[in-house]
Amino acid sequence: MTATGGPAAAALPTDGTVVVVGASLAGWRAVETLRKEGFEGTISLVGEERHLPYDRPPLSKQVLAGTWPPEKAVLADKRRSSELRVHEVLGRRAVRLDVGGRRVELDDGAVIDGDGIVVATGAAPRQFPGTEGLTQRDGLFTLRTLDDSIALRAAVTALDSARVVVIGAGFIGAEVASTCGGLGCRVTVLEALDVPLRNVIGPVLGAHCGSLHGANGVELRTGVAVQGIHRAMADGERVAAGGLVVELVGGEAIPADVVVVGIGVVPATGWLAGSGLTLENGVVCDDRLFAADGIVSAGDIARWNWRHDGAEELIRIEHWQVAAEAGVAAARSLMAGRADASSFAPIPYFWSDQYGVRLQVLGNPAGDDEVLVTDGSLREGKFVALFGRAGRLRAVMAIGRPRQLMGFRALLEAGSSWDDALAHGGT
Ligand SMILES: Cc1cc2nc3c(=O)[nH]c(=O)nc-3n(C[C@H](O)[C@H](O)[C@H](O)COP(=O)(O)OP(=O)(O)OC[C@H]3O[C@@H](n4cnc5c(N)ncnc54)[C@H](O)[C@@H]3O)c2cc1C
Repeated sequence: MTATGGPAAAALPTDGTVVVVGASLAGWRAVETLRKEGFEGTISLVGEERHLPYDRPPLSKQVLAGTWPPEKAVLADKRRSSELRVHEVLGRRAVRLDVGGRRVELDDGAVIDGDGIVVATGAAPRQFPGTEGLTQRDGLFTLRTLDDSIALRAAVTALDSARVVVIGAGFIGAEVASTCGGLGCRVTVLEALDVPLRNVIGPVLGAHCGSLHGANGVELRTGVAVQGIHRAMADGERVAAGGLVVELVGGEAIPADVVVVGIGVVPATGWLAGSGLTLENGVVCDDRLFAADGIVSAGDIARWNWRHDGAEELIRIEHWQVAAEAGVAAARSLMAGRADASSFAPIPYFWSDQYGVRLQVLGNPAGDDEVLVTDGSLREGKFVALFGRAGRLRAVMAIGRPRQLMGFRALLEAGSSWDDALAHGGT
């Protein structure tokens, strides 16, 4: 993708107007960056939730556990928002984008024009098919928002030893299982794959992560397909009225007080349908995060052209660090204009906290990469593992070795060969 060079490809006037759609991490970082870098004009921040921006990682960890009050997850409070002269448009959903006119239409019919637009509406949890009639009151949850986390905590702590079934042993599912286990719940995790996370970190490391459940009193069942979730009939299913039943293919019924569906997310592009932006598993952007002239995208929704190690690929990443850095980069791109903006080429990083251990990954691993443990061992539960493909280092994962993990950052940035990475790892 190349800059088109029209007037809209030019730098943003510093006294112009910017509409940031999505009041969360990527959107807020864009707001902060615009002000930090001298943008004096109007910034409208449009968010569907009624909250000012807050952080999501604590929602499956400290907020769900009750070790943090919800307010501690805040990213931007009223004072900061007013210091940055943000025009807050909260509790309002964007329903349409006019790309040529750079206009955002809201669910109340209002229209906001911008010289620049930041599309940062993130992603929304995938719902389990056939559960449209069930709500949190029935005990059915997904976990994306602060309100979800508060309601889930109330549900799992309302009963002694609540029976919690988590569908999906991905990172969010595993964290929910870990936290609910810590709250004294009886937790069962149902995973369709034979090995959790095998598509992300491969079978060996996936099996290691999966083993953390059993080692901490949580039941993990792999290779099971869930047929449906429905309200329990009081009779015959050993479930008190108000409970749920998770039905497996083959007929087994698992009773639960609370079911948490953690089967991934979909980019929140619904409001952009028909806008003319390219929507393919996210908003497709160039390497500078432009989706069109004057329109940038950042965070979980953006699928951008990642230029790295002499290659380029369209990637969409659902990590806190990438969303934060993309918010900064998108604002800078908007200010510089499409022709003069810089390429956004971070080394992706994420972490996950489960059962008292922190798992960290640098780079962009794939489930079928070659994997080699270079430091520590899976048995002792502390290690560094390298992911390689076609003679190149692709990613590094560590548990209990944060310093050693970060020691590989420069190699990943430089596009290291597999052999150089092994030598660095002492192998
Ligand atoms: C429970 C949980 C735990 C996590 N833990 C980790 C972790 O440990 N490590 C890690 O690296 N990452 C973690 N993440 C991922 C990380 O939080 C996300 O990558 C990050 O929140 C993405 O930020 P974002 O701004 O792109 O999108 P989001 O945070 O999804 O925000 C998008 C915002 O846009 C709003 N919106 C959507 N549609 C519209 C519309 N049409 N109009 C107006 N507003 C709209 C949404 O309501 C939302 O507030 C976790 C995520 C969750 C949910």
